[in-house]
Amino acid sequence: MQTLIVKTGRRTQLVDVTAQVQKVVASSGVAAGICYLYVPHTTAAITINECADPDVARDVEGALDRLIPTAGPFRHNEGNSDSHVKAVLVGASQIIHVEGGKLVLGRWQGVFFCEFDGPRDRRLLVKVEAGIQTRVYQLGTLPPPPCFL
Ligand code: ZN
Repeated sequence: MQTLIVKTGRRTQLVDVTAQVQKVVASSGVAAGICYLYVPHTTAAITINECADPDVARDVEGALDRLIPTAGPFRHNEGNSDSHVKAVLVGASQIIHVEGGKLVLGRWQGVFFCEFDGPRDRRLLVKVEAGIQTRVYQLGTLPPPPCFL
């Protein structure tokens, strides 16, 4: 397992970490397998979404801030309850297939570390496991369902 350090610059910020995660995958030497991503924080998360247009990440940041206002009402007295709720909604882990030594992502997809109580230095845990059989099907070319006759 490797730990990536993610430096964030805003309270709510989606940081594109696709290249860093891909570097870990490449350095692992794993050609086919699974990449596990885990965020060991209670006010940060990890997601996969469009990376082609940076406005999408900014829109997600704004939408989450509007959806979960900082003001509350909340019981937790650290002043970051909204950050905890956002982290719960987005989630602490992701799993991505690895084929040909690369992350299997859609054409427009990127991996985003999600900061909800920044700016801070954060950790992203990356584990690449070999030997798990994966096969990627394109929509419309799925194999027929198993026959139980
Ligand atoms: Zn807190």
